[in-house]
Amino acid sequence: MFLKKLSPVLAALMLVLSVHAEAAGRPQQLATLSSLEKQDLTFMREEEKLARDVYLALYEQWGLTPFSNISSSEQQHMDALLQLLKKYRLPATGLVLGEFANKELQALYNTLIEQGARSDVDALQVGGIIEETDILDLQDALARNDNTDIDTVYGRLQCGSRNHLRAFAGVLKAITGQDYLAQVMTQQDVDAILAAPRERCGR
Ligand code: ZN
Ligand code: ZN
Repeated sequence: MFLKKLSPVLAALMLVLSVHAEAAGRPQQLATLSSLEKQDLTFMREEEKLARDVYLALYEQWGLTPFSNISSSEQQHMDALLQLLKKYRLPATGLVLGEFANKELQALYNTLIEQGARSDVDALQVGGIIEETDILDLQDALARNDNTDIDTVYGRLQCGSRNHLRAFAGVLKAITGQDYLAQVMTQQDVDAILAAPRERCGR
């Protein structure tokens, strides 16, 4: 009597256990990234590093709070991309401050550091250039990417960049009294971002 009642439960339990065992035993399928997707991941991590390194240098020079706050946010962006690089078993480049494996990023870093040294307003404009560039590059990377986990990270980083752009434009306006002018994106796209409130970016 007891066994008869118990057996369906046992059978169900064993089924659950066997399903679990099967799931646990099956290695998780890791998507194969296209060479463009791989390139994008590597490039985007260095571009986030460019943002972090420039902001660290400009904070040291001008002592403006946004550079300090935003550089730690860029560190988080780098870390998020590093996790993806590790997950897909891709090499991560060296991390010496102000040095870049990508020649274009190295040239951009040198130019921006020079520009940012001229004045505090120039430094904040540099912040704008970096964030606008980041938003566009993430846009391109998103269009080329076919993986949900990478999409999620790119989307979060882009959201962060919009907030950073709002912050730089806000400080610039407070100092100069003038509205922020687009430097890389179209004025229309920049205006749409600045008109929207600060976002929470997936938190
Ligand atoms: Zn970023
Ligand atoms: Zn940023």
